[in-house]
Amino acid sequence: MTCTGPKCSRPVVAFGLCGTHYMQRVRGTAIRPIRERGDPLVPLTIRVPKSVLTALAAAGQSPSVVARDVLERWESRRAKRGPALS
Ligand SMILES: [Zn+2]
Repeated sequence: MTCTGPKCSRPVVAFGLCGTHYMQRVRGTAIRPIRERGDPLVPLTIRVPKSVLTALAAAGQSPSVVARDVLERWESRRAKRGPALS
């Protein structure tokens, strides 16, 4: 059986998920595609309204993890649509 996670063909470990996606589920983070090797994380500094940080703290969320999730989802959607028409 292969993993039911997004864009994943790894073997199932538990709950229909591979080890990496199962750990995402255990941690309670979004089930997201596994980053390809050779696609390292690089630092990014952004400025956001203070109210956004307050809301993230109230929700017990890490601003950097949420920002990465949002940006990765944007990139994933963009990659599915193909290049923008100019
Ligand atoms: Zn998987």
